[in-house]
Amino acid sequence: MNLFALAGNERVKEQLSQQEKGRGLSHAYIISGPAGSGRHTLARLLGSAMLCTGQGEKPCGICVSCQKAAKGIHPDMTLISGSEPGKPIAVDQVRALRADAYIRPNEGERKVYLLEDADQMNPSAQNAMLKLLEEGPAYAVFLIIAGNAGGLLQTVRSRCEETALIPAGETEETDWERRKLAEKLAAALERASEPELLETAMALDAKRGREELSALLDLLEEELALRAARDGDRRRLMRAVELVRKLRGAAKLNVNGGQLSGWLCAGMFDAPR
Ligand SMILES: [Zn+2]
Repeated sequence: MNLFALAGNERVKEQLSQQEKGRGLSHAYIISGPAGSGRHTLARLLGSAMLCTGQGEKPCGICVSCQKAAKGIHPDMTLISGSEPGKPIAVDQVRALRADAYIRPNEGERKVYLLEDADQMNPSAQNAMLKLLEEGPAYAVFLIIAGNAGGLLQTVRSRCEETALIPAGETEETDWERRKLAEKLAAALERASEPELLETAMALDAKRGREELSALLDLLEEELALRAARDGDRRRLMRAVELVRKLRGAAKLNVNGGQLSGWLCAGMFDAPR
């Protein structure tokens, strides 16, 4: 899918693209995140992708449908917001939406509704959505935009897929990278592959701060425990967990990533067994 217009949020883009290629996009998404995280951009991109009539990656950005969507004049893409600024979508607006949803699309195969600040809707307005989310017409798509998905009723949430955005440039990429690194380290430890471990551990570059290192070691311990709980090499994994715990203590002191990686390798391969 062509989601490059959304800044950052690589993981979300990757997941949605995979989903589109695999089982296909869902009929209802909750797109949550703080202001500036690209909620509206993503909602428009998703909606456009569903209405796009171009070839190749969607939204193509050049077909008539994409152009209308970009200008906000696509008859099958409707943005619903409160009747005045700062006011949430009211229950009678949801009822009107419900009536509209049963009228077949004008041009495309689908009808896309973007709901603005949906977490501000009161419970009766949210409840009015439920039936539509559950058994609305197959062509209807609901893109529910929220500052905080926690403000939505559980019954609404359980009927939608959730996509949480983070403002570009904030910590998501590091979190994601950190988890990947923890997974790689755990895999190397489990496979008892010294070269692999050395190589991965080198990524623990000396610039990583103390908090970063502690967070990484927490993830590593979690990952090792997960592997041990599955049917990994338990003895080896538990030994690694023990070692990681010791290192975590050391990480609170003033050590750098290079030292830690050395200790990790030494602890796993050199110590008497
Ligand atoms: Zn298109």
